[in-house]
Amino acid sequence: MTEYQLNVAHLYGNLMNTYGDYGNIIALTYYAKQIGVAVDYQLVSLGDEFDDQAFDFVLFGGGQDYEETIVAEDLPAKATAIKHYIENDGPLLAVCGGFQLLGHYMVMADGTRVDGIGVMDHYTTNMYDDQLTVLSGKRLTGNIVIENNDTGEKYHGFENHQGRTFLGEGERALGTVISGNGNNGMDKTEGVIYRNVYGSYFHGPIFTRNGNLAKRVLATALQRKYPDVDWQARLDPVPTESF
Ligand code: GLN
Repeated sequence: MTEYQLNVAHLYGNLMNTYGDYGNIIALTYYAKQIGVAVDYQLVSLGDEFDDQAFDFVLFGGGQDYEETIVAEDLPAKATAIKHYIENDGPLLAVCGGFQLLGHYMVMADGTRVDGIGVMDHYTTNMYDDQLTVLSGKRLTGNIVIENNDTGEKYHGFENHQGRTFLGEGERALGTVISGNGNNGMDKTEGVIYRNVYGSYFHGPIFTRNGNLAKRVLATALQRKYPDVDWQARLDPVPTESF
């Protein structure tokens, strides 16, 4: 029997799972298993309660505009619990559409504004200005490389989004764009770090392609639940790959 266990929630995993974002949980589970930690997975979707006390890691993946509108209608019922989870330093990975909906709002490709739950301070506009003229090209698509400003680590991914996200109060970028577009194609930021929330436009999925980041977040989750163990030290000898 495993002594240590993490409970993972996949928010709207049946609707928001672009390019197999679920692979982030597979990667986390892979590294956890190598150090004798079991991972329990639960899908939390439309109409389900999100119990913020029950989880040690949350994935909120990406989706297209249509799925985001469905999820946006259900999210307010979970907003208080999600805010609690975040403000209590719960580790969370939000990818693309999930990243957008944690912010104040996102504007779809057709110009419709969809409210997020505003538990984080960013907002997402679209590729047009008020007169519906193109602001900056089309969809932001392709391979992307960024550098994490805290650690110097480089992360590799694939982005495909039309939303342009701008960070707000207390938020810093996951990294600076070396090649590719990032949050908005303009300010060289990619993703977000806020408390223990990591947001990103990276598919790939981000944890499978960037094992060092997966291990960092895994260590954070374990440290929060089992503070008496030095989890980073246990994970350091575990080989990681970035590609
Ligand atoms: N619909 C959003 C956009 O295009 C999110 C896309 C995604 O999650 N890949 O901006």
